[in-house]
Amino acid sequence: MEKKFNPKGFGSAAVHAGHKQDPNYAHQTPIYASSTYVFDTAEQGMRRFSGEEEGYIYSRYGNPSITEAEEKITALETFGLNMEAKGILHASGMAAISTLLLSTLRAGDKILTHYSLYGGTETLIQTILPHFGIEAITVDLRNLDNVESMIQHDRHIKLMYLETPANPTIQIVDIEELTGIAKRYNLKVACDNTFATPYLQQPFRYGVDYIVHSTTKFLNGHGTAIGGILIGRDVETMKSGITKAHRIFGGNGNPFDAFLLTQGIKTLELRMERHCSNAMAVAQWLQNHPAVAQVNYEGLTSHPSYSIAQKQMRKPGAMLSFELKNGYDAGVACMNRLQFCTRAVSLGTVDTLLCHPPSMTHFTVPKDQREQYGITDGLIRMNVGIENVEDILADLEQAMSG
Ligand SMILES: *Cc1c(COP(=O)(O)O)cnc(C)c1O
Repeated sequence: MEKKFNPKGFGSAAVHAGHKQDPNYAHQTPIYASSTYVFDTAEQGMRRFSGEEEGYIYSRYGNPSITEAEEKITALETFGLNMEAKGILHASGMAAISTLLLSTLRAGDKILTHYSLYGGTETLIQTILPHFGIEAITVDLRNLDNVESMIQHDRHIKLMYLETPANPTIQIVDIEELTGIAKRYNLKVACDNTFATPYLQQPFRYGVDYIVHSTTKFLNGHGTAIGGILIGRDVETMKSGITKAHRIFGGNGNPFDAFLLTQGIKTLELRMERHCSNAMAVAQWLQNHPAVAQVNYEGLTSHPSYSIAQKQMRKPGAMLSFELKNGYDAGVACMNRLQFCTRAVSLGTVDTLLCHPPSMTHFTVPKDQREQYGITDGLIRMNVGIENVEDILADLEQAMSG
């Protein structure tokens, strides 16, 4: 029997949404490890290809394990919003972003974006898309007057691309204000919602057209699989042009990883609650530490966009960064002394991860360039995990006092 109940709570939706009764009554949707699907007759094959009949054809096009994850995440991004949307699962966050940009933009089009972006996205728009005649204009999207005049003076700008909170400096941009400006000039707006997750922030609430996620992070939650999703509010465009491009680019997800993702999302609300309360405690502790010059966390009133974060996020997230007064060597030394927290890039896992961008993710970026983006020598980025916070604080204490 299908469940007809429409849950009132986000956590209930995270557990149940997207699930369909298995034909063999398995409690969990099995991992559909099958590349292709059987047709009863040639005519049925024809009806499936023409779209006249719903049904699976080939796993690059779709797979039941993948459908469950797509529908679950789409239900959460639209939860309580009384709207439809369609999500397409991808092999990675970068695959989802590539499908979005390559299927919605044409040679001559431009993207307007912020200077604090995920590194892979930055490389895609700065070094690969120009080969296809697509250009990016990078500005400070917190300066709304400048944004409006840029758009007014350049009719080639077709897409505004947002990422908030942004990596690794935890900058916040105002989704509602920016979408308002974009809509006045008929621009599409896309938002990378990876850092916040739909539990903390729903960009569709403000009229955004597309949401992308690296599901590798908080949605999966346990660091067990790479994945991504592209969700669009215009279901027709998603079902036609974008689905066609996705099937041809071939950046599809796979059933094993989709299964892990589906299980991970079920605990999203619980995990995010604990991530956020731990992150707040760590941020406050760091703020009072004598070795720390600055803490970047949108839950602190000292954050320059504190009020915007309060407006558009249910709670400030799990990500923060802080700057050590003694620069590069202090950053490296602190990393090397960690005993409990994990030294690793990535984020969204249940354990606390720390990385030192100047010696790791941004090692190849020239110092003056990364400093313009706020990535200073002593900057450490933290994914605050769901352990007991006293253990996280004790490890930081000993690592920073050496
Ligand atoms: C990790 C990440 C991506 C890229 O996702 P992959 O799954 O690694 O391809 C994109 N945006 C943000 C904000 C990320 O953190």
